[in-house]
Amino acid sequence: MSTRVLVTGAGGFIGHHLVNYLKKRGYWVRGVDLKNPQYAPTAADEFALADLRTWENCLEATRGVDQVFALAADMGGMGFISSHHAMILHNNSLINLNTLEAAKQNGVPRYLYTSSACIYPEFKQTETDAAPLKEEDAYPAQPQDAYGWEKLVTERLCLHYAQDYGMETRIVRFHNMFGPLGTWEGGREKAPAAMSRKIAVAKLTGDPVIEIWGDGEQTRSFCYIDDCVEGLYRLMQSDFRSPLNLGQDRMVTINELADMIANIAGVTIRKKHIQGPMGVRGRNSDNTLLRKTLGWVPQVSLEQGLAITYAWIESQVKAKMAEQVPTATRR
Ligand code: NAD
Repeated sequence: MSTRVLVTGAGGFIGHHLVNYLKKRGYWVRGVDLKNPQYAPTAADEFALADLRTWENCLEATRGVDQVFALAADMGGMGFISSHHAMILHNNSLINLNTLEAAKQNGVPRYLYTSSACIYPEFKQTETDAAPLKEEDAYPAQPQDAYGWEKLVTERLCLHYAQDYGMETRIVRFHNMFGPLGTWEGGREKAPAAMSRKIAVAKLTGDPVIEIWGDGEQTRSFCYIDDCVEGLYRLMQSDFRSPLNLGQDRMVTINELADMIANIAGVTIRKKHIQGPMGVRGRNSDNTLLRKTLGWVPQVSLEQGLAITYAWIESQVKAKMAEQVPTATRR
């Protein structure tokens, strides 16, 4: 009989791709989310629309599965997480407290929690050339936002469920995942998607001005979605119980990211730096432990990943613009 897996947040960006990946590997998959995947139908064997802040829904969702990939979260890019602290801390605490306890009560043996690079202390990320973050850098703790504090508490919850109840918990710290079929407009989109959208609009309208939050010299590393789901799968199989970074370790500035995407799009852009949330000044992943633990690191280059992502976002922008053209002017 095939392994039965629950993916929470299966209507979201990473969850949707993970369901596809697990189906290809022959797993039986249940997806749960507040919403269906926005851009393509799910491949899950069962998909339930449910609010995982509610205990009964968590009990139902975790029944009869061998593994849980816990991805559900109220989240978005910097614009969103820097301005909804109470809501994020409240919603994500409820989701994770209830899902983990329900999994325990249903006797689920393996549980993987998706944490974030946002748990790392702000004081280690004040320079654009900040040293890559090692897993042990998490303490003493001082995440920038409530989003990161909640992730840190749930990490600890998973560690204690392993110690006290013998549950096999796994904890991954993502560093900026991107790819097609992710949110690209509406306020929750992250930098690679937002930049791809702005550049697609510039290309399609002929207006070369691109707005960038802050001076654009803030640095990040970005990891393509295929590597993300591969890493998730490998970590779940492994016997490693402590938090583990998952991301690329090539740092670029947001200005460089914009130039790379403009190059892919084949347009010349003019950057206009405006006030906006920038997050920490510099952040990169130290992949020493990842390499040692999984014998693997992400493989897809930033250029390769951005080319695929940009093409998808440009097609989305084009379709949206076509919808907005009044019918009378269409031929
Ligand atoms: P996403 O927003 O696309 O997906 C999260 C999904 O959770 C959404 O579909 C949302 O509807 C669902 N959800 C929210 N509240 C819910 C609720 N009460 N009940 C049920 N479902 C609910 O985000 P993503 O990028 O796919 O991220 C997946 C996980 O990885 C999240 O936990 C996120 O915090 C974490 N993470 C992502 C990144 C990244 O770069 N994308 C970085 C760090 C951590």
